[in-house]
Amino acid sequence: MIDKNDWRLQGQEKYLKSVSLTFKSYSKYREEWDHDHCSFCNTKFMEQNHHGTLHEGYATDDNYHWVCTKCFNDFKDMFEWKVDF
Ligand SMILES: [Zn+2]
Repeated sequence: MIDKNDWRLQGQEKYLKSVSLTFKSYSKYREEWDHDHCSFCNTKFMEQNHHGTLHEGYATDDNYHWVCTKCFNDFKDMFEWKVDF
């Protein structure tokens, strides 16, 4: 059970509560951006194979917000995400 005071919670419910997420390979939101961060723990997502980065995760339909697998599992009940496969 995740505590409401978990350090990763920073008001994400304003834009991530009950949204649809899809598990996919990371792709850039815009051509100028080379990476994104998990919306919760800040782990980096990149297309290239850099050490310590993730290459797949759960994303909103517009690829704007990314959530890593660990945070997805930790917060899925609290945020009531709908998952598209
Ligand atoms: Zn995370």
